[in-house]
Amino acid sequence: KFARRPLMAGNWKMNLNHLEAIALVQKLAFSLTEQQLTDVEAVVLPPFTDLRSVQTLVDGDKLLIGYGAQDLSAHSSGAYTGEISGVMLAKLGCQYVVVGHSERRAYHAEDDALVNAKVKAALGNNIAPILCVGEGLEIREADGHVAYCRDQLDAALAGLKADQVEKVVVAYEPVWAIGTGKTATPENAQEVCGALRQRLAEKYGQETADRVRILYGGSVKAANIAGIMAQPDVDGALVGGASLDAEEFTQICRFP
Ligand code: PEP
Repeated sequence: KFARRPLMAGNWKMNLNHLEAIALVQKLAFSLTEQQLTDVEAVVLPPFTDLRSVQTLVDGDKLLIGYGAQDLSAHSSGAYTGEISGVMLAKLGCQYVVVGHSERRAYHAEDDALVNAKVKAALGNNIAPILCVGEGLEIREADGHVAYCRDQLDAALAGLKADQVEKVVVAYEPVWAIGTGKTATPENAQEVCGALRQRLAEKYGQETADRVRILYGGSVKAANIAGIMAQPDVDGALVGGASLDAEEFTQICRFP
């Protein structure tokens, strides 16, 4: 039914301690059937301090829920106080890591070169980066959004070969729609997601472009997921606020 297996990834941001994390993952495991978790890939992205607890639960109960981190260092070890490496995340069984989230670009001054280094660090540890791109309101109002997101994509993937690019998950997250309750229309989402896939095809070939999953993110809820997922180039969602509620995230994962 879908060209690519849909992926619903819950970005918890700086919410939920490890005990709350266990409770939420247990609720998700309880409410989503094995069939639903086979049809749709459901992934949680908790804070670093929760990852060991989530790993233990997922491994112990052989849950079909995936997990990953919200950031990683561009370095693999050394004198980088406070940082967490891809080596460490891989050791904890993380399959995914968010790279270049707009909050990190804005509050931690992450630029395109650092995002590119982090994408490479993730891939080097066999972790799929969920690479975030997206324009702010001013760029959208000046109609520069497609070019802006395409440039962010080019910069983040600089130096990668097609066989690496196909492991990357791209997330289009218009900054004006994150945590604001303002969802892009399904057509807005498709416009950029389609343009990003076209860009991947130009640079890495159609086959690679057809394998890459492109998510939409920005105020996704159970009430708007169906329209977004009906778009041909949208393969899932990166969900912030709504992923903290077991019932809401379950409904999002049950969209079909
Ligand atoms: C996000 O931060 O990735 C996000 C999409 O947030 P929200 O769903 O809360 O807008």
